[in-house]
Amino acid sequence: MTKVFNEPSFRDGVNLMVDRAMAVMGLDDGVAKAIKSCNATLQVQFPVKIRGKIEVFTGWRATHSTHRLPSKGGIRYAPYANQDEVEALAALMTYKCAIVDVPFGGSKGGLLIDPSQYSRDEMELITRRFTLELIRKGFLSPSTNVPAPDIGTGQREMSWMADTYKHLHPDDINYIACVTGKPVHHGGIQGRVEATGRGVQYALREFFRHSDDVKNANMAGSLDGKTCVIQGLGNVGYHAAKFLSEEDGVIITAVIEYNGALINDEGIDIEQLKQHVDEHGGIQTYPCAEFVEEGNAVLEKECDILLPAALESQITMENADRINTKLIVEAANGPVTFGADEILRKKGIVIIPDAYANAGGVTVSYFEWIRNISHIRLGRMQRRHDAMRGEEMSRVLEEATGRAMSEKIRNNISRGADELDLVRSGLDDTMRLAYQEIRVTRDNHENISDLRTAMYVTSIEKISRSYIEVGVF
Ligand code: NAD
Repeated sequence: MTKVFNEPSFRDGVNLMVDRAMAVMGLDDGVAKAIKSCNATLQVQFPVKIRGKIEVFTGWRATHSTHRLPSKGGIRYAPYANQDEVEALAALMTYKCAIVDVPFGGSKGGLLIDPSQYSRDEMELITRRFTLELIRKGFLSPSTNVPAPDIGTGQREMSWMADTYKHLHPDDINYIACVTGKPVHHGGIQGRVEATGRGVQYALREFFRHSDDVKNANMAGSLDGKTCVIQGLGNVGYHAAKFLSEEDGVIITAVIEYNGALINDEGIDIEQLKQHVDEHGGIQTYPCAEFVEEGNAVLEKECDILLPAALESQITMENADRINTKLIVEAANGPVTFGADEILRKKGIVIIPDAYANAGGVTVSYFEWIRNISHIRLGRMQRRHDAMRGEEMSRVLEEATGRAMSEKIRNNISRGADELDLVRSGLDDTMRLAYQEIRVTRDNHENISDLRTAMYVTSIEKISRSYIEVGVF
C-alpha cells in the first residue's frame, strides 16, 4: 500500500523552517510574528480578448516586507501558480535579500497561465494588461516594488512591463528601474541572465574552500571530478550545470526534465544538450545519453552533488529516504519540503539552502537597479583610467627588471574592468561573504548544526536590526 504523507503547504513549510531558527534565537513572539507575516497580497482578475473571445486571468503580487524599499522578487507565469506559493516565495525573498545584504524588502508575483498555449502577441497583450493592474494598485514602481523574471518569464516580459510603466509615468526619470532582468539594450545589465546559475557556482566554490564543511558532507578535495545530478535545464539549471562542468571539472551524470531524464556516467556535455533541446524541443532524442521516462526517480541516483533547479517540493517525505547524495544545493526555491529536510539531516546529507544558494539573481538585479537609477553603465568612468595605470605599471616593471612581459600578462595587468567583470566580481564577493557569515552563525550557536537554520538566524538577526533602526519595535 502506498504511504500517504501529510506535508505542510509550501508557505507553512517555509514558516516552520523560520520557526525553527527563531526558537534557537529565543526571539520574542511579537517580533517573530511581525517578521513572518506577509504585509499585503494583491489578487487581480482581468479580462483579455484572445482570438475573439474574452478570457479572464488571475494573478497575484505579494509584498512580504517593506522594511527596505523597493520590495523585490520575480513574477512567475505557470498553470499551477497560486496565492500560497506566491506568499511563500515572497517570504523567501525577504530572507534572501537580507542574507546577501541587498537592501530590499521581499515580494513575489504569479500569473495563472500556461504560456505555451498563447502566441507571442497574445502574451504581450496579457503581460501589458497584468502590468497595468499592478501599477494601478501600487504594486509596481522603481521605488516601491520591482519585479524580475522567474519561471515562465524572461527579458521579453520585463521589457513589456517597463514599457507599460513608461507610458503611464512618462515623467518618472527612473522608469527603467521599475523591473530588472531586462535586455541589455533596454536598460538591463551584463550578466543578469546567467546570474542565478553563476551564483550557484560561486556558492559551491565557497563551500569547497572550507575543507571541514566538505568533510562534514563526507567528501574531500575540490569540485574537480565530483559527480552531479541536476533537475531542470531552464535558466538556472542550464547556467549552473554549464559553468560547473566547463570551469570546475564537475561531471554532470544526469539531467532531469519534466518528461524524463538523461543519464551518462561519463558526463553530459551541457552546451551540446542545450543546443539539442533548442533544436528539437526536448531532451528525449539526445543521442549521447540514455533516456529514461521515470524522470523523478533519477533524483535518487547516487552522486556527490544533487542540484534541484526546477520547482518547489521535489524532495519530499516520500522520496527523501532514498536520496543518495552527499550535498544538495538548492538552486530552485523550496525544492526540499520541511519534512524531507528533517529526514535528510538525519541521513547526514548537507544542504546549501535556497535563500542563499540562488541569491545570485537578486544580487545582480540589485546591480541593475543601481545602474538604472544612477543612469550610468558600471565601470564607464574608471575603465580607461585603470587601463592607463596598468599600462604604466607594466612599463615600470619592465624597466626595473629589464625583461619584457608576455603579451598575455601585459594585457591582464593593463585591462580595465568592464561591466561584466564588475558584476561577476560583485557577485562572487557577495556569495563568499554571505556563506562565511552563515558558517560563523552555525559555529557560534551550539544548537545549530545545519546551514539552513544558520542562514535563517543570520538573516532574521539582520531583519530585526533594521526593524529596530526604523522604529517599528
Ligand atoms: P525556467 O522556467 O527557466 O526553468 C525551469 C526548468 O525546469 C524548465 O526547463 C522546465 O522544463 C523544468 N521542469 C519543470 N517541471 C519539472 C519537473 N517536474 N521535473 C523536472 N524539470 C522540470 O525557470 P528558472 O528561472 O530556471 O527557475 C527555476 C527555479 O529557480 C525556480 O524555483 C525559481 O523560483 C528559482 N529561481 C530562479 C531565479 C532566476 O533568476 N530565474 C532566481 C532565483 C530562483
